This record gives sequence, C-alpha cells and structure tokens, in this order.
Amino acid sequence: MPPNTSIRWGLIGASDIAKTRMIPAMRALPDCQVTAVLSSSSSRAKTYANENGIPRGYQDLQKFLQDPEVDAVYISTTNELHATQAIAAANAGKHVLSDKPLALTLTDAEAMVATAKQNNLVFGTNHHLRNAVIHRKMRQLIKQGAIGKPLAARVFHAVYLPPRLQGWRLTKPDAGGGVVLDITVHDADTLHFLLDDDVEDVVARSAQQGLGQGDVEDAVMGAMYFRNGTLAMFHDSFAIKHTQTGLEVHGTEGSLIAKNVMTQEPVGEIYFCRDGVCKEVDVGPRENLYVHSLRHFNSAIRGQGQPFASGEDGIRSLAVGLAVKEAAKTGQRVSVKYHS
Ligand code: NDP
Repeated sequence: MPPNTSIRWGLIGASDIAKTRMIPAMRALPDCQVTAVLSSSSSRAKTYANENGIPRGYQDLQKFLQDPEVDAVYISTTNELHATQAIAAANAGKHVLSDKPLALTLTDAEAMVATAKQNNLVFGTNHHLRNAVIHRKMRQLIKQGAIGKPLAARVFHAVYLPPRLQGWRLTKPDAGGGVVLDITVHDADTLHFLLDDDVEDVVARSAQQGLGQGDVEDAVMGAMYFRNGTLAMFHDSFAIKHTQTGLEVHGTEGSLIAKNVMTQEPVGEIYFCRDGVCKEVDVGPRENLYVHSLRHFNSAIRGQGQPFASGEDGIRSLAVGLAVKEAAKTGQRVSVKYHS
C-alpha cells in the first residue's frame, strides 16, 4: 500500500472489545480509518455503526467483504465464528487481525493462517499483552541474561469478569466460553514471548466458583513445563474480586517480579531482585497495548516487518489452551500438540 494512504478497517463483530479498545486504537493512529462493521443482526449493525461513527453497517458477510473501502478486517465475534470469517475475508483479499483464541480447533486455526498466506495477506493474532512495554522489557532483560537461566514462572491472572461481559463466556461452551480459552491462552502467549520457549506438557485443575454455568469453567490452576526446563504455574479466573494480577520469572541469577501487568492498560511495575534486594526497573514510555499491536500490523501491510503476534503465535497459544482443557478434563498430564 502507498505510504500516505489510510488503511481502512472493517470490523467483523459488533463487540465490546472493538468498541472499548480497538476503535479508539484505530482512531489514535494517523494512518487508520474504520469504514464498516458486520453484525449478525441488521439492527445491531445499524445501531453500532451510528453509536461508533462508522460509515456502514452490514449483516451479510459477503456484502461486507465486497466493500472496496475495507483493506483489513479485525475479527472479534465469539470464538466459534473466527475461522469461517477469517477464511472468507482472506479469500476476499482482506488482511486479517483475529482476536484470540483463533478458533476452537487447531485444524481451523491452521486453515485461517494458511489461507491468508496463500493469498499473500498479513495475518495477526490480537494477543495484546506482549505489546505492553512491561512484557517487552521483561523479555529483553531475560534475553540479556539478567536473571540467568529461567527456572520458574508464576502467572497470577485471576480477575473478576465485568458484569457487562457475563454472557457467552460463562454459558456457551460451543462459542469457546470458559476461562481457559479466554485467559490461559494469553498466559501461554506471554510466557512464550518472555522465555522464547515452547510448552512441552501441562497439568491443570479447573472449577466453577460462582459464575460458570453448565460445563463452563470459570477458574483454573495448573502448571506448564517448558522444553528448556522452566516450570510455570498459572491461576486464571473470572471470579476473583479483590486482588491485582502479576507475573514473576525466577532464574539462577535473579528474579523479575511484575505487578498489575496481566491487564489491558499500559500499567504495572517490574522489580529486579537479587540476593533478596529488589529494585524497580525503569520501563520508559508506555504506549497503549492495542495501538502498539495495530501500528505493527499496519506496518506489515505496508511491507515493513510483521504483526507483533503472528498467526503462528495464535496457533501456538491455542495449542496450549487445548492441552490445558484436556488436562483439566482428564486429570492427566497432557503433551501439547502443536499441529493438527
Ligand atoms: P462481546 O460479547 O462484546 O461480542 C461478541 C459478539 O456478541 C458480537 O460479535 C455480537 O454479535 C454479540 N453481541 C454483542 N452485544 C450483543 C447484544 N447486546 N445482543 C446480542 N448479541 C450481542 O464479546 P467481547 O468483545 O468480550 O469478545 C469478543 C472477542 O474478542 C472474543 O473472541 C474474545 O476472546 C476477544 N477478546 C479479546 C480481548 C483482548 O484483549 N485481546 C479482550 C476481550 C475480548 P454480532 O457481531 O453478530 O452483533
């Protein structure tokens, strides 16, 4: 695309995340416009378009994809719909940024990424956390050897699901509801990003602690074992009201302790600890996570660099999420299967 033309985004899904995070992020960038939205309901498409100042609302996917003023699509429908919509969009020549989990099966996720590749289009996964300066700084410190060999990680990603989001996530397993595909996939992506390592196998126990209905879990704890020997424990929940999130990585030469960092905001602190003394790390300027993600995606469309989280990253985090679900269901240790 020519450098001074805008990238025109179409939204697949009249969702909360598009409204609260992605539309503002698109508008914060000088080279982005939001031109269309697709909803399964024509009245919701119209209302959403009006309320969010979007020129056109569609109910029909094919008509939406024929809009010549859509260069790229951002997919944030419920999870069972991502694959069909991403494949149709890529076949219509649109670049695809899909929210996570990419799909409900590895086969579908692989087909999404492969279709974009076959059509020479950019495909990215909206794993926002690795876009945070805090996580980028932790990765840099780990790579530089500040903590020596990473031995252990601890992820505290238990939150209280806001009442406005207490819908399909808690009631619809067929839509990919449940805390594992919602939150654990983010843990998997963030740990992979920090450690540059893949999870070999997992153990897990899930539970219902007041919000999940039917078969849908609203809490999970477990452990991931990485190929280079790092052990990571995780606690993900929709039902915990009174604490903050956190992420720690402990190595042979030091520890990184990050507080309030598994969040959508560019907040939180990192402490570097050695011999029992902890000092706060200066992380520099803080950019909105979603703006950072979109900036990289737009540059990739212009032929410069890659999306900050690729399609392969989305497949990888889904693979870990599916293994955690299986481990919680069977009570067995489960090897992560990265290909269908
Ligand atoms: P929402 O529940 O807000 O939206 C999902 C779908 O629900 C929409 O596409 C819409 O369907 C339908 N919907 C929304 N409002 C209504 C309504 N009032 N009545 C009937 N249907 C409605 O989901 P989220 O925004 O929370 O999540 C969407 C996706 O984004 C998921 O894949 C999730 O995992 C991901 N996500 C990612 C985050 C991140 O930071 N990376 C954070 C939050 C979510 P339609 O489009 O047909 O109108």
